[in-house]
Amino acid sequence: MASQDRSSPPTREATAESTDAETALETARRQLDRVAAQLDIDDAVIERLSHPTAVHEVTIPLERDDGSLEVFTGYRAHHDSVRGPYKGGLRYHPNVTRDECVGLSMWMTWKCAVMNLPFGGAKGGIVVDPKSLSDDETERLTRRFAQEIRDVIGPNTDIPAPDMGTDPQTMAWLMDAYSMQEGETIPGVVTGKPPVIGGSFGREEAPGRSVAIVTRETCEYYNYPLAETTVAVQGFGSVGANAARLLEAWGATVVAVSDVNGAVYDPDGVDVDAIPSHDEEPEAVTQFAATLEGGPDGPRRISNAELLELDVDVLIPAAVGNVITADNADAIAADIVVEGANGPTTFAADAILGDRGICVIPDILANAGGVTVSYFEWLQDINRRTWSLERVNDELESEMVTAWTTLKDEVERRDVSWRDAAYAVALDRVSEAHEMRGLWP
Ligand code: NAD
Repeated sequence: MASQDRSSPPTREATAESTDAETALETARRQLDRVAAQLDIDDAVIERLSHPTAVHEVTIPLERDDGSLEVFTGYRAHHDSVRGPYKGGLRYHPNVTRDECVGLSMWMTWKCAVMNLPFGGAKGGIVVDPKSLSDDETERLTRRFAQEIRDVIGPNTDIPAPDMGTDPQTMAWLMDAYSMQEGETIPGVVTGKPPVIGGSFGREEAPGRSVAIVTRETCEYYNYPLAETTVAVQGFGSVGANAARLLEAWGATVVAVSDVNGAVYDPDGVDVDAIPSHDEEPEAVTQFAATLEGGPDGPRRISNAELLELDVDVLIPAAVGNVITADNADAIAADIVVEGANGPTTFAADAILGDRGICVIPDILANAGGVTVSYFEWLQDINRRTWSLERVNDELESEMVTAWTTLKDEVERRDVSWRDAAYAVALDRVSEAHEMRGLWP
């Protein structure tokens, strides 16, 4: 692999032309416009890709445990399916909106295309606070939602997966409700299921593993040997904890991790195996931090804002979106940012980081291990054959390194940022498929 001098990280031409208030749809449209302007792609195709194919809105009546009735709103946005069935998560969250689903479905189109998976982009969800529901209510709501969207999902048309507020159990109920109506067991209608009903080994760990793999490749490329590389990780959930643990196992020094309440910082390295992840025990990072007696130069508790600005080699924002903004982009001191979360860097902040020569590995590559192992799960379901964990991890490693290398070649060939390279590769693949298939009728 070619490498560059450690002292000369990549540069990109960009200007901070945007405001910092962004919805997922605004960001997705801006990113599409930005890359479309750099490429020779038919305007008609770009116009088509600026709009979703369809957005399905449904109402879902739920009988609460006390016998009362409440009606919730649900969405399923389909962005593009030119390369294969729609694919994307289902969120249960009070802030779910139609536009958010559309924006996130566009990201899924690019993510699947960057990984060269035969899927298009979808996203959906229910406007509900899942913490306000009992388990029985969540099950009834999920089964009724499955019924309301049954006509627009299916193993060959649209395959949902877990997202914020949903989990393998939710997918099991959805798969069961769908299968009951179809009269046969159809595991391939959703991914992210428990392995006992057709889920894949390694699915839960996959987004964090892919973050670790692309971090490792990027560090090698820019001459940061992992054994001499410091890493800060925001968020210690499925993505952050798995990425931190793998990077530590591969030799990096993870100096800071955080949860929603704050961070723990140890210049000599945090023992990430000693801290339970969000799944294992919610918000355990700050409890661990409370046990530290480090003094000003030793291990200590810091804020999430301070974590983002630590002088480390690699920063991995793996908690929530919009944490690197125009307000703090100038203070980011890491040389490399690897986006574990979806959309952690705003459009304006991205331009500032680019101007400052900070390398940003975009979310649509970095955390794409999730949808990649979802693809493996779908293949296993269709073939009625289970892969071992070792095979899943081997194939994920190979797919991630292939996708990373394709972007690296694009970065070198066109002298653009990694984000622009990712969008260019994705848009090229999607638009070429559109041009080849043509417009019907
Ligand atoms: P999670 O719920 O397992 O963990 C989230 C972690 O972030 C927790 O440690 C939580 O305490 C912390 N956190 C929450 N709000 C925070 C805030 N405002 N500031 C700092 N920390 C905060 O979530 P996850 O599954 O690891 O997902 C994290 C991100 O990665 C999300 O953006 C998600 O969309 C994205 N992502 C997840 C997957 C997946 O399959 N899990 C796949 C791709 C992308």
